[in-house]
Amino acid sequence: MRILIGTGNAKKKAEIAALLAPLGFEVVSPSDLTPPPPEPDETGDSFEANADEKALAYAAATGLLTVADDSGLEVDALDGRPGVHSARYSGPDATDDRNNTKLLHELADVPDDARGGGYISVVTIARSGRVLLRTRGTCRGTLLREGRGTGGFGYDPLFYVPELGKTFAEITPEEKAAISHRGKALAELKRRLPDVLKAQEPT
Ligand code: IMP
Repeated sequence: MRILIGTGNAKKKAEIAALLAPLGFEVVSPSDLTPPPPEPDETGDSFEANADEKALAYAAATGLLTVADDSGLEVDALDGRPGVHSARYSGPDATDDRNNTKLLHELADVPDDARGGGYISVVTIARSGRVLLRTRGTCRGTLLREGRGTGGFGYDPLFYVPELGKTFAEITPEEKAAISHRGKALAELKRRLPDVLKAQEPT
């Protein structure tokens, strides 16, 4: 069965594809399709609303079973910001570097013991105008004062996980998948999806 990974973020797509591969899906991304479906708007004020919006829009545009993730970083000292605005935290021309620079600036006066935060990922599977399944994963960490490592993407160089003694940019994709917000949301999805799809089959 084909499944569309509804994201324009190549690194996110690679993480989701690796986690779904064992289920035996043929994984396609928007850029594999002709014409590619338009990137949907994200107008919601929650990860759940945005994940549903993306999955439903891509599914409607392509007719395919679609998985989409909405994710972000909630920082305790910033009352949960950047949250659903993580991708565009530094403005319309946001890049990972600019977002990280802004985060370091906003946290400059925050002491080491108050620099906690968590990544959130909500993953939605939709088809034909219906949400079939939605799961949520979280991962707690601490925001460093300067970046460490070159792996991952987004805020990963600043996101330090005390149990690992490393940032998300210093671990392998496999290590990240085992403990990350997205890895946890997709692991639950993998557990539950076969039954959800079976229930959809005509009897
Ligand atoms: P979305 O594409 O609207 O879901 O935006 C997600 C944004 O949250 C990304 O652009 C990153 O800034 C941040 N983010 C989400 N997941 C991760 C992750 O695993 N590592 C680093 N940053 C992430």
